[in-house]
Formats: sequence, structure tokens, C-alpha cells
Amino acid sequence: MTPMSAMSPRSPRGDDEWIRRALGLARGAAAAGEVPVGAILVFEGRVLGTGSNRPIGACDPTAHAEIVAMREAAARVGNYRLTGAELFVTLEPCLMCFGAAIHARLGRVVFGAFDPRVGASDLIRRLEAAPGLLNHRLEISGGALAAECASLLSGFFGERRDTMRIFRNSGTPARL
Ligand code: ZN
Repeated sequence: MTPMSAMSPRSPRGDDEWIRRALGLARGAAAAGEVPVGAILVFEGRVLGTGSNRPIGACDPTAHAEIVAMREAAARVGNYRLTGAELFVTLEPCLMCFGAAIHARLGRVVFGAFDPRVGASDLIRRLEAAPGLLNHRLEISGGALAAECASLLSGFFGERRDTMRIFRNSGTPARL
């Protein structure tokens, strides 16, 4: 295995390609009856962890795809710090997941669909702008394969009329 320090500083594959792989993980979540969100944690082009959303099956409110991927990665490298790693996720992360990304010292978070209900990228930006609140700065970019990511979510909720009521007001899908 190539030592981490000997590898390039940034994923050689494009963001869209990683998000496409995360979409495959999201489809796995949908097949299990979970809100379809998938995440993949990459360091210098190497996959350290993957996650599918599974709070229902795991009876765990923290089992968002991002957390699942970060836990797997941290266990794999034997360190809760994943300094400089990149997280690719199909839906804009919530505050919990951004918080975990900051604790893990990730370098970058790339997400697909925007989530106007619980997506926290704007909040993180505002916190970063306030002096002394956050001691780690994440690079955040959203909108990679956004249409495909949003379509997977709206298709999932379209099959669940009870939850569709919730999203009618916001006009966009969001993770529950
Ligand atoms: Zn989350």
C-alpha cells in the first residue's frame, strides 16, 4: 500500500466521479428503506471509508452516511483525525455531520444536492466568519451532480406519500 505522504495532495479523480460512487451507496440505502444518502471518504485518491444512510436500521440517530463513512475511515487508519481527507456525499450535510467533519479535520466536503431544510453549509460559513468560534476551516463545495442526487431523493419520497406531505412545503427533498 502506498504511504499516505507519498501520494498526491488532491484526489486525482474528479468530484463528479466520487459523487457518482456515493450515489451507488445512496441507492443501497434506498433499497434498505432508508433515505437515500451515500458518502465516501477519500484521502489522496484512496477510499478510506464508505457509508449509506441507516439511522432506521441501526436505531441510531447519528447513522448518517457521512458519519458511517468517517467512522469506518477512522477505524481503518487508527486515528480519529482524518486530516486533509475529502468527504463526498450526495446530499448537503447537516450540522452534526459538518461538526464531525471539523472534529476529524477533514480538508474538504463536496456534496451533491442542496438541502434547504437541514443543510448546514451556510451556517458553517457564518461560524467560520465569526472570529474565534471555529479553529478549523473546511473547504466546502456543493452542487456536484446535483440533479442526479436530487432526483434520487425525490424519487424515493415520491414513493412514500406520507412523507411527501412534509416536503411539499419546502419544495425540495431533505433528510429526516
Ligand atoms: Zn448528517
